[in-house]
Amino acid sequence: MKKSINILGVTGSVGQSTADVILSAPERFEVMTLSAHRNVDKLADMAVKLDAQRAVIADESRLDALKVRLEGTGIASSGGQEALEEAAAEPCDITVAAIVGMAGLRPIIQAVRHSKAVAIANKEPLVSAGPLVIAEAAKHRTALLPVDSEHNAIFQVFEPENRLQIEKLILTASGGPFRTWDRADMARATPQQALAHPNWSMGAKISVDSATMMNKALEVIEAHYLFDMPPEKIEILVHPQSVVHSMVEYADGSVLAQMGASDMRTPLAQALAWPERMKTPGRTLDLQAMSRLTFEPCDMEKFPATAHAYTALEAGPYACIALNAANEVAVDAFLATRIGFFAIMESVEHILAGLRSETLRTLDDIIRFDHSVREATAAYIDRKAGELKKEIKAVP
Ligand code: MG
Repeated sequence: MKKSINILGVTGSVGQSTADVILSAPERFEVMTLSAHRNVDKLADMAVKLDAQRAVIADESRLDALKVRLEGTGIASSGGQEALEEAAAEPCDITVAAIVGMAGLRPIIQAVRHSKAVAIANKEPLVSAGPLVIAEAAKHRTALLPVDSEHNAIFQVFEPENRLQIEKLILTASGGPFRTWDRADMARATPQQALAHPNWSMGAKISVDSATMMNKALEVIEAHYLFDMPPEKIEILVHPQSVVHSMVEYADGSVLAQMGASDMRTPLAQALAWPERMKTPGRTLDLQAMSRLTFEPCDMEKFPATAHAYTALEAGPYACIALNAANEVAVDAFLATRIGFFAIMESVEHILAGLRSETLRTLDDIIRFDHSVREATAAYIDRKAGELKKEIKAVP
């Protein structure tokens, strides 16, 4: 029996790796629906290559172009946010949820309700709506399979029957491109420098998050919800080689680790084949070729984002939403060279400092609150970018 698959967000880097894994084992998988935000050409190419039944473009204005591209292929097409949510609600064995940012939230909830398993590749839905996603999964008996490499590693060495004997989850972090930089250089860092990740090749947003270590902060929150572990039992450990993807320490002193090459196709294959294993077209780990593996503590002063994860978790889900939303807006502004590297965290801190406690029960509550935080962050950045311009003009 082939596994039926929906891929939400197929044109991004995770979507591409998913396609690689599927194409390497066509006898195992049957692709139902593919979705993309607005890249019609790539979506159409992937739909043909993967022999998909349907392609959905979230940006409805691109639907006509998609129809033209798919003419004569027999692949159905649809467009718009509603069409995307409908497609996400199509029953299947496994949905790969890889839509970047909060745009993935409504579709992922639909997938959790209607798929047998959901491979979660984007962290924002869990960070912003963790309690809701987990509750829906429990209600519909849907397996949540983490694809983020750290959580995938923990998933592989996590013994649910011994959860009370777990001392801590150890999330490894590469430390990003600025691990050895001093603050003065970091202050002047350009988007290009922030995008030069030492081990992983990833999308722009997550690469900048890796440079600020906000990526690890979001992963602490993600781990808290996925594995139902209190924040004090989740630790960040810097491991520059990115070979050990994360670990679980048990009461008897055993530390179980999962290792692998820095290749997203491994966690994706693990999730797609679960509970079985399959051969992966990715790189394999050559430990003999490595001179050493090193570990060091996380410098929370140099990378304050990591500390904010713990304060946000302590404050409650609303603070986690704000942390994620403010960061996304600030990272966009940095990538557009409107603000400097340190201003990303200043913007996030400005928002966190002004927060009042909110109780958010529904998806609409969450989306509304997320939106208000984005507006507040954008307004703060507009003021800040204005000041920067004035400063630059003032320099003779
Ligand atoms: Mg990760």
